[in-house]
Amino acid sequence: MNETISVPLARTVGFQPGERNVFLHLLTACNLHCRHCYINPPEHGTNMLSLDTVRQWLALFARPAQSGQASNLILLGGEPTLHPDLAAIIRLAKSLRYAVTVDSNGYLFHDLLEKTTPQELDYLSFSLDGPEAAVNDPIRGTGSFQVCTENIRRAVAKGFQASLICTVSALNIRHIARMPALAASLGIKRLFLQVIGLRGKPAAGAASAGGSWQVQPEDWFATVPQVAMDAAARGLHVVYPKVYLEETDRFECAGTAAENYFVFPNGRVYRCPLCEDFPIHSLEIAGNALVRHAGLNEDRFFALNIPEGCVMNRLLQPDNIGYDRNGRPLHRISCCLLKQEILPAK
Ligand code: SF4
Ligand code: SF4
Repeated sequence: MNETISVPLARTVGFQPGERNVFLHLLTACNLHCRHCYINPPEHGTNMLSLDTVRQWLALFARPAQSGQASNLILLGGEPTLHPDLAAIIRLAKSLRYAVTVDSNGYLFHDLLEKTTPQELDYLSFSLDGPEAAVNDPIRGTGSFQVCTENIRRAVAKGFQASLICTVSALNIRHIARMPALAASLGIKRLFLQVIGLRGKPAAGAASAGGSWQVQPEDWFATVPQVAMDAAARGLHVVYPKVYLEETDRFECAGTAAENYFVFPNGRVYRCPLCEDFPIHSLEIAGNALVRHAGLNEDRFFALNIPEGCVMNRLLQPDNIGYDRNGRPLHRISCCLLKQEILPAK
């Protein structure tokens, strides 16, 4: 009998009605100084949220039990495991029916693996930007590859669901074809390939003398879909940004079509991650209430309809867009939150 081979297919993950994602930055401090770090303390604050404040803020975004709808909570920093009460925060979030993910740089401070369990923490996400130390460490810091991979192995051995985030830039795109084999060998379940954005440090200038951070569209198309297919063939669930819309794709802005909240320790709440370097957040937490931020804010841009697609990308990253001789954009840029996914091969 012929064996059936299932070929993994990429599909666009549209914004789901009712899905709520809360990205809570517990602090902005970090032990690393990654070259592409987007954390911006003057805009995001330098304080660490207390357990009491987190309790009050999580209640603002939690859905009532009778709604039957869960929300996703992604705990971030800075480095969230620097927070001494992270395990208590995870437990608290679980009691409010959140599906909880921690995004760590892999150092896992305060013995996180000993203080929480795979039943409380739905996903533990690690960041690596190269398949070996020679690629990763110049971007993320000396020794970070070894620490991160050792802690992934420990987490997987303890039964945690581990995912891996790789930020693709001009610095590592020639090496990311080797990431799927590494991820599979570490027992990773999900691989996120992110594209570098012009925010934080990258916005301040070129990555290196004579070099740009940004990935050229032809390099992206020539590399990332194939890497994703390889990872799926190795049994990983792969997620990567759509970036460019096809002719027939409908443009949607997550600011109007989805419920995402990017919450910072200074109380700013953004609906669009591209806006985070500017004081144009549409919401803020004041007196433990979620209120509208007065003034001309990000939400005024969401409804604008332009041929280039995403308005904030057009304003902040115009180099991403090429035009034909009639001034028409060659590609429409999708919302940065629109993803493609490939499910693991059976
Ligand atoms: S680990 Fe994250 S927060 Fe820390 S420096 Fe790197 S990108 Fe920034
Ligand atoms: S990235 Fe663009 S399309 Fe997405 S939420 Fe921001 S403004 Fe809207």
